[in-house]
Amino acid sequence: MQNNCIYLDNNATTKVDPEVIEVMLPYLTDYYGNPSSMHTFGGQVGKAVRTAREQLAVMLGADESEIVYTSCGTEGDNAAIRAALLAQPEKRHIVTTQVEHPAVLNVCKQLETQGYSVTYLSVNNQGQLDLDELEASLTGNTALVTIMYANNETGTVFPIEQIGLRVKESGAIFHVDAVQAVGKIPLNMKTSTIDMLTLSGHKLHGPKGIGALYIRRGVRFRPFILGGHQERGRRAGTENVPAIIALGKAAELELLHLEEATARERKLRDRLEQTLLAKIPNCVVNGDVTQRLPNTTNIGFKYIEGEAILLLLNKYGICASSGSACTSGSLEPSHVLRAMGLPYTTLHGSIRFSLCRYTTEAEIDQVIEVMPSIVERLRALSPFKNDDAGWLQGQEQALAHR
Ligand SMILES: *Cc1c(COP(=O)(O)O)cnc(C)c1O
Repeated sequence: MQNNCIYLDNNATTKVDPEVIEVMLPYLTDYYGNPSSMHTFGGQVGKAVRTAREQLAVMLGADESEIVYTSCGTEGDNAAIRAALLAQPEKRHIVTTQVEHPAVLNVCKQLETQGYSVTYLSVNNQGQLDLDELEASLTGNTALVTIMYANNETGTVFPIEQIGLRVKESGAIFHVDAVQAVGKIPLNMKTSTIDMLTLSGHKLHGPKGIGALYIRRGVRFRPFILGGHQERGRRAGTENVPAIIALGKAAELELLHLEEATARERKLRDRLEQTLLAKIPNCVVNGDVTQRLPNTTNIGFKYIEGEAILLLLNKYGICASSGSACTSGSLEPSHVLRAMGLPYTTLHGSIRFSLCRYTTEAEIDQVIEVMPSIVERLRALSPFKNDDAGWLQGQEQALAHR
């Protein structure tokens, strides 16, 4: 087992803060009571759950009654989408974007087979939405608009409140997948247009297996999981107490660190990005560099494969990511980068580095040190010429021989 690496894959998951582990542990050992029990042993656990709910509510600027715990971000997205549709059975239209997380996209795709129509809003080559296109898509039949706050692959941040104002006018419910935004962008539900918001514990230095859905008071909600009366009847199942306690602490710490940590991460990220761009020819930053998460950079290294870069980085103990998922042997480029219309020459060679509050200057220096030689090595190995025409021609030949 490997447990020391330069971890720059924080948009995939994060290290649990040691303080979070500390507050969570007693609820795995001594305080195992059921928070719904009548006895003191369970009741004290119920009290701890209420405190954790308060901590999370404070981070969001929400009321405790507006928070429903889920098992993960994916469940939050699924529950929000289903609930919005169940609450307005007469409306059959959904608006989302082409660059959502699969936890939203795949639900929408299934709903299309069940009589719903879905508009997938396009993005420009910076990964930004066109608000006119959004406005034109909204009709009286639109039940739900579900749009992410910040993109997990590029870090591009959408103008959520501007979007929300338009959604409100149409009468649709507005759900936001804020899994990447929480802890990186200050949020205040009191002054927001958001009706429902999804977050996930393991993306903010909390444990895996816990998430939450914020549901604005007054928004009609129909539960996705039925059973007992937990979560005010909005999500049945005995509470995941240790993880709920942990998420409360993680939220408290995120709020505490937000300003100073994001400033630090932004500085380190910018240095990484600017130095790589200066040292390595033929590379570009993907996404909107003005409206972006402070911790994320997605860089396209032309004429090489992102997976090859990742393998070499891995040899140096550096963890990064490419947006693309390997689907049964064929290397499918990321749906996000494709939606941005990136040229074929950069589409395959894009790498995401995502930092966190534990990232050190020395770690960034290490990446800056090894990346130029990795890229140079891979480009030298390429049988194709390292220019647009030569590379495209080579790719066509390779495809023809498959
Ligand atoms: C990680 C992620 C999710 C899914 O969250 P899980 O807790 O892993 O299910 C959803 N949306 C975005 C934007 C994410 O980054």
